[in-house]
Amino acid sequence: MTPAALTIAGSDSGGGAGIQADLKTFAAFRVHGLSALAALTAQHTRGVTAVHVPETTFLRAQVEACFDDFDVRVVKLGMLATAEVIETVASLLDARPDVPVVLDPVMVATSGAKLLADDALDAMRTRLLPRATIATPNLPEAELLLGARIDSVVAMHDAAQALRARGANAVLLKGGHLQGEGDVVDVFIDATGMHEIRHARLTLEAHGTGCTLASAVAARIALGDGLRDACIAASDYVHRALVKGYRPGRSDIVVLDHF
Ligand code: PLP
Repeated sequence: MTPAALTIAGSDSGGGAGIQADLKTFAAFRVHGLSALAALTAQHTRGVTAVHVPETTFLRAQVEACFDDFDVRVVKLGMLATAEVIETVASLLDARPDVPVVLDPVMVATSGAKLLADDALDAMRTRLLPRATIATPNLPEAELLLGARIDSVVAMHDAAQALRARGANAVLLKGGHLQGEGDVVDVFIDATGMHEIRHARLTLEAHGTGCTLASAVAARIALGDGLRDACIAASDYVHRALVKGYRPGRSDIVVLDHF
């Protein structure tokens, strides 16, 4: 049977990030994609022009419809927009403690658009981080979650450990925002130890990489991978999708080619 993965995230009308990237990634891994829309963005390659957050009763209905019928092997969380949505998602997950959760703690888009309310940060820290089977923050997100500056690979090791200490079972801390010439270094940590995943730095501006990486991790978990193998496979996938990426809009932003 084709395994199913559920993304609870935001819609990107421009098709580069969010739910749209998640479903393309699930399809590329031959995993059946389920989706519950937590927020909708009016968006193109140049930015976000509007955000709408549906009633949480409707979000709850979407998630329950998915669990009522499918064998959901993993849940991936993306843009959740508000503290109320986070609380709703956390309570839905509390009722399903055995389902693995990939938490992409989405806060700000590459374009600078705010995708999480300021007063929702605490709910992200206290309600979702401790429920994460694996959290996949980028450096700005990890800095906000920890209230600490992360400006080197050594600091990334400490930050990954600190995020585990705050309750995440495992962490993939993405180092793409570190300035420098060398490889991009992502730091993976779980109960068994720390591991660096390296890739050559690509000199292009891209859209949707974070959503795609977290969805690829989720897809590999749905297919039975352990967390570390899932992260290595997902990181390779994003790198390949970036190399094949294309520019569909009027900006220079590349979106990923999933197929
Ligand atoms: N829009 C939505 C709905 C998202 O979930 C995200 C990222 O998670 C983005 C936009 C931002 O994507 P990027 O930062 O890659 O432009």
